[in-house]
Amino acid sequence: MTTLRIAGGRVLHPDLSVSEADVLVDQHSGEVLDVGETEPGDERLDAEESLVMPGLVNAHCHAAMTLLRGYADDKPLDAWLQEDIWPAEGELTEGDVRAGAELALVEMIRTGTTAFADMYFHVPEIAEAVEEAGVRARLGHGVVTVGKDDGDAYRDNDESIEVAREYDGVAGGRVKTAYMPHSLTTVGEEYLREFVGKAREYDVPVHFHANETRDEVDPIVDERGERPIEYADDLGMVTDEDFLAHGVHTDETEHELLAARGASVVHCPASNMKLASGMAPVQAMRDAGVNVALGTDGAASNNDLDLFDELRDAAMLGKLAADDAAAVPAEAAVEMATAGGAEALGFDSGRIEEGVNADLAVVDFSAPHLTPVHDYVSHLAYAATGGDVRHTVCDGEVLMRDREVQTLDEAAIREHAESRAAAVAERAE
Ligand SMILES: [Zn+2]
Repeated sequence: MTTLRIAGGRVLHPDLSVSEADVLVDQHSGEVLDVGETEPGDERLDAEESLVMPGLVNAHCHAAMTLLRGYADDKPLDAWLQEDIWPAEGELTEGDVRAGAELALVEMIRTGTTAFADMYFHVPEIAEAVEEAGVRARLGHGVVTVGKDDGDAYRDNDESIEVAREYDGVAGGRVKTAYMPHSLTTVGEEYLREFVGKAREYDVPVHFHANETRDEVDPIVDERGERPIEYADDLGMVTDEDFLAHGVHTDETEHELLAARGASVVHCPASNMKLASGMAPVQAMRDAGVNVALGTDGAASNNDLDLFDELRDAAMLGKLAADDAAAVPAEAAVEMATAGGAEALGFDSGRIEEGVNADLAVVDFSAPHLTPVHDYVSHLAYAATGGDVRHTVCDGEVLMRDREVQTLDEAAIREHAESRAAAVAERAE
């Protein structure tokens, strides 16, 4: 057994209290062994003037979209997808997806994210990049059947199920999978009925976009006379394993249903603001008992993968949505980005205690913008940025030490992504 002691700092505990403590990690099992006055440990990671917190969880993302960061902005969702994003994505090769995913992983590790959920294509490339990077992920192949003939629609669904079966548990268990139909309006009912059943058979969860815009809700209500989450529930895709992105235009009935089933909602405030999708009723969802996580969505609609921005946006937008400055307090935002995210993705992470996965971020509190410290949790939500993360640890392995990424070659990845992105833009013209 090799042990790592993260020493000399303060620790954010599961109840969000903070105290001076060390964290001892078993690097072989990847779990936290002890929190407090621990044994010395074989290796030491300095945490002086720093806060050791659970690694952040980005519960909804399209990692390889980093290649399209800043490619098209300032348009409504529909026009943005159809005129810019889908044509450019149509040009992405396996190598491009790999390059974009690696760039995303460098950005995540630098900003303290240790787990993420990803919906995209060329998933085997993404799984390999995750294995190399050392983070934890729930990956899936995104399915769209609108505009496809039956054969193509079946192939797309089959690929999503096959990838989920084949890659679940790879990278020493750090990679998990899900069946990922894009949304309730972009995948036909007959396919959802059949393939959600297959996901259950193979014991993988379902992840999809839901209630993101009004344009996505109205057709379902008009055609079926029921709310989208009720429709999804009829299809069996709202179980306690499943998680859906956005939930912007959801009502009380849907919140009660989500809470009763135990499904999670991934709130993506920056994407919702940028695409003017609306304000998710996060406080109302939490009050109803729904587990809410945070996600950045793709880098083309954010435009970064820094979850500290999401923490702040969630707390701010939650207040506007509820018309109440007491809504979505700092504690709620921090909880959503850590324990809430881990619960949504089904990982035993998101809190620092004995026996839990050692997925951690060490945040440097010595910067002027984090001085003085009246309240650590307030700073995490309102004042810290991803650039304040000093060390990132996942599964007991140090992925970044003193702001140097250890597992990936950052300079080479940046250069490669730059040239790949330029070529994609040229082909998409
Ligand atoms: Zn998305």
